[in-house]
Amino acid sequence: MHAITLGTAGGPVWWGHDEIDAGICTAVVVDGRVYLVDFGYGAGRQLRSAGYTFGSVEALFITHMHSDHTVDLSSLFLFARNEIGQRKVRIFGPGDRGKLPPLTPLAKEVPKPVNPESPVPGITETFDRLMRSYSTDINDRIFDYGAPSPATKFDVRDIRLPGAVPFDPNENVAPDMEPFVVFEDERVSVKAILVDHHPTAPAYAFRFDSKYGSVVISGDTGYCQNTINISRGCDILLHEAINLDVVAQQAITTYPNEQVRASVMSHHSRAHTTAKDAGRIAQKAGVGTLVLHHLVPANAPSESWQTAAEEFDGSLVIAEDLGVICVHAKAKNSVVE
Ligand SMILES: [Zn+2]
Ligand SMILES: [Zn+2]
Repeated sequence: MHAITLGTAGGPVWWGHDEIDAGICTAVVVDGRVYLVDFGYGAGRQLRSAGYTFGSVEALFITHMHSDHTVDLSSLFLFARNEIGQRKVRIFGPGDRGKLPPLTPLAKEVPKPVNPESPVPGITETFDRLMRSYSTDINDRIFDYGAPSPATKFDVRDIRLPGAVPFDPNENVAPDMEPFVVFEDERVSVKAILVDHHPTAPAYAFRFDSKYGSVVISGDTGYCQNTINISRGCDILLHEAINLDVVAQQAITTYPNEQVRASVMSHHSRAHTTAKDAGRIAQKAGVGTLVLHHLVPANAPSESWQTAAEEFDGSLVIAEDLGVICVHAKAKNSVVE
């Protein structure tokens, strides 16, 4: 069992540097079969660079509906269908948010949302709509030479929360809870838990348990008790990290309006986790190896992420694209290749 950090950059940005080339996507590999988490920019290409095709992929888990985690879903159903063979790849992700997020106090009037009849769809509806938007291409192939519809290659499901969880997308995005099973096969059991990425909700962390050990992926979240709950005693925790100083510096040019900038920074400090706090979470949960990924911004100085070690006694890895972290390398032997 190992994790491959296929893409490590967080945020809706094209990087295009040699060392930062792909958006967020992580593979958990068990006995040669691949379980993906998130499908950011370049995910399909990165999977190939790691030596796999979709013929090896069993399931894809989407942590939340932000575009940096979902942007390559169209390429997935358009390009991967011939690799999948006579079976279906399972896709799990958040359901419909249920209502629009709270409106910023900076708004002078109530804006008109995009697609008002269904403004906050979950994974099933999004996947279906994406496929419909490509109907010219898809029907062309179906009618011209009998290609199978990509719809026959994927089994897409909204994750359903256990009934007792008092979740509300605006008021209570991550109530204290225990992880619950969303998928099981003969190799892995995959559990989910709500995390705090307000106002995006629902947002999930995932835990993969196999006979070899366990891997947890935090998804995007602020400091959150549920991340500790799902990470307890795991071998590898891949946690997101943000460098607020560098983001604040870069925001001066991106958001020249001071009020807007303050509001953006307040979002970032609430909805994401500093390296130090990720270290704190890993320490509290007693994890073996902490891997920082979904780095925001991806071009922050690499040594700045080392502050996690001030709070965490275990092995710390700063992820690079296509890095490999083995479950059995619990203490000192974890390497990023
Ligand atoms: Zn993200
Ligand atoms: Zn996000």
